[in-house]
Amino acid sequence: MAILLGFDIGGTKLGIGLGDNNGKLYGTSRCDNRNTDPAVILPWMVSESKRLVSEAGLKMSDVAAFGISAPFPADAARGIMTKPTNNPLWRNVPILDYLKDELKIPGCFENDANCGALAEWFFGAGKGCRDFIYLTLSSGIGGGIIAADRLVRGGKALSAGEVGHICIQLNGRKCSCGMKGCYEAYCGGVALAARMREEIAGHPDSILNELSGNDPAKLDMHLLEKAYRANDAYAAALWEEMSLRNAQAFGLLINIFNPEKLVLGTLAWAIGDIYTDPILKHLPEFCWEEPRKACQIVCSGLKREIGSYAGIAAAMNYLKENGKLEC
Ligand SMILES: [Zn+2]
Repeated sequence: MAILLGFDIGGTKLGIGLGDNNGKLYGTSRCDNRNTDPAVILPWMVSESKRLVSEAGLKMSDVAAFGISAPFPADAARGIMTKPTNNPLWRNVPILDYLKDELKIPGCFENDANCGALAEWFFGAGKGCRDFIYLTLSSGIGGGIIAADRLVRGGKALSAGEVGHICIQLNGRKCSCGMKGCYEAYCGGVALAARMREEIAGHPDSILNELSGNDPAKLDMHLLEKAYRANDAYAAALWEEMSLRNAQAFGLLINIFNPEKLVLGTLAWAIGDIYTDPILKHLPEFCWEEPRKACQIVCSGLKREIGSYAGIAAAMNYLKENGKLEC
C-alpha cells in the first residue's frame, strides 16, 4: 500500500487530500483560492500537509509521493504554473520544486483534466479499463485520455487530451482559445452563456428573459436547462445544437480511440438523462457502429468528490509509471 498526498489547485478553491492507493482518504483540507498570493498559499500548503500527515499518525517519510493537479496553461515538464487563467497572481510559480524541497518526498505535476481521468481510472467509473476517455463537460471542456493502460500526454507540449479545442466547424464560433469552431465554443457552459447573451435580444418570447429577470448577465447553463425543461423553443434549439455538437465530438473520439468507456463530467451527471439521451440519439451519425457499441457512455463515478482524488491519483500514476506501484 502507498500513502499519497494530493493538491488540487483551482481558480476558486485549493484542496489537499491525504489518502492511499486503495482510495481511502485519511484527511482533507481546503481554502479559498480566489485572487490569492502564492507567497502566502504555498507555505500554507506545506504546513497543512504536515498537519494532515501528523493527525493521521504518520510521518512525511511514510508518504510515497505527492501529486499536483493544476490548471493549464503551465510548463508541465518543469512543474511551473505559468499563467493560469483564474489565478491572476500566480505567474511563473515553480510549485513542483518548491513542494519537493519543503516536503522532501517525490512528486509530480499534471494538468487538471488529466488528473480527473486518472481519478476516474483508479477510483471511479474507469476502474479496470485499459482504454477510456474522461470529459470534464463543465464551464469549459477538458479531457483526459487513457490508452493502452497509460495516460496519453503527447510530445513536447504535453497537450494531448485538449479535446475541447478540436475544431468541429469551419469558420465557426469564436473560442476563448483564439481559434474558431472549437467543440468548447458550442458545448462549454461559459461559451453557451455568452451565446445566450448575444442572441437573447432576438428571442423576446423566450422564457429565458423572464427567468433571468431580463438581465442577460444572469443567463447560464442552469437557466438554459430550466427553459429547456419548460419547452421553450429557443432553449430547445440551443439544446439540440449542443447535443448534436456533443455527439459529433464523442463520435470523433470513439472512432479515433475505440475506448471501452467515455466517462462524462459535471453537466452530464448534474443534468442527467435529458443531457445524455439526445447525444446518444445523434451518435450513430458520427461514428462507426462497432466502436460505438463497444463504448459505454457513463457519468463520473466520483462526481463532486473528484477534486479530493485528483492530486492523489496523479501521485499514484507517477508511482505506476516509475514501476513503484502495481495498479
Ligand atoms: Zn478553442
